[in-house]
Amino acid sequence: MNRSTVPCLLSLIRVSLIQEIFHEVVRIIKLLIRSKFLLCIVIFGFLNFACGSSDREEIEVTLTITPEPVVTATIVAESTNDQESLPQIRRTPVAEPSIFDTCLMDTKRRPELTWVVDKTRSLPDGFVPSDLVTLRDKLVPAGFEGRLLDAETTIHFEKLIEAALEAGFDLRTRSTYRSYQEQVWTFAYWVDQLGKEEAERVSAKPGHSEHQLGTTVDVTSASVGWILSEELGAVPEGIWLFENAYRFGFVESYPVDGEEITGYAYEPWHIRYIGVECATAWRASDLTVVEFLETLVEPLPHPDLPDSVGM
Ligand SMILES: [Zn+2]
Repeated sequence: MNRSTVPCLLSLIRVSLIQEIFHEVVRIIKLLIRSKFLLCIVIFGFLNFACGSSDREEIEVTLTITPEPVVTATIVAESTNDQESLPQIRRTPVAEPSIFDTCLMDTKRRPELTWVVDKTRSLPDGFVPSDLVTLRDKLVPAGFEGRLLDAETTIHFEKLIEAALEAGFDLRTRSTYRSYQEQVWTFAYWVDQLGKEEAERVSAKPGHSEHQLGTTVDVTSASVGWILSEELGAVPEGIWLFENAYRFGFVESYPVDGEEITGYAYEPWHIRYIGVECATAWRASDLTVVEFLETLVEPLPHPDLPDSVGM
């Protein structure tokens, strides 16, 4: 063997070895393919990728959901605050309007119902009620038909009379709206009969009568002969009237022993409509009507009339 033959042999050996290695690798691959190992690796790799993506999505979903509990917590917190604040609201109860407040609100509806009209405070010059109606005959004694009264007052007076009848009492009115001119004649009559000082005890100077409001009635009964008499206050009909008139919005302007305050002698027959709300408040006040009306502070728009008017 010469010196050039050796490298050639070595070269052949390398080639043979490489071929052997190559064939061996191919054989192993074939085996792997047959054993589906490679396929498993590929599937595993894919699944790993897919699962990895899924995990990321899951995390994203979780992150997306995460704010919800926060919001919920906020709501709960707000709810908790609300629950804490509710007792505070309850601790400050909404006050029911008092009887007096209810009366005050009602005076805005028709202020003239609660105007003070007495010996020193008169009605505005030429005042005439805006809604006078003629009373039905059954509300007046025979011979007193055609009496006029404020429409709202009439509705409540009819209810009062019906309630009295249900209680067994026949009450009627013989004197209702009285115009300024009628007051002139009436007061002049009493001055002529009794003298001025005594006339002022029993009759109003023109413009100073509550009857001019159209909301005042003088009530009487058969038991007192259908006249206007103090006796009414002592008979069952008058006692019932005194106890129940306020429920229909009427008040007794001139009570017994009230002359020092009202300026008028006792008149159990004289009742004035001021609305059910205010009549109820008056009843609870233990004040005379004039004192009660003064608390409502609704001054008349005109000054007092001079003493000489109507004389
Ligand atoms: Zn009267």
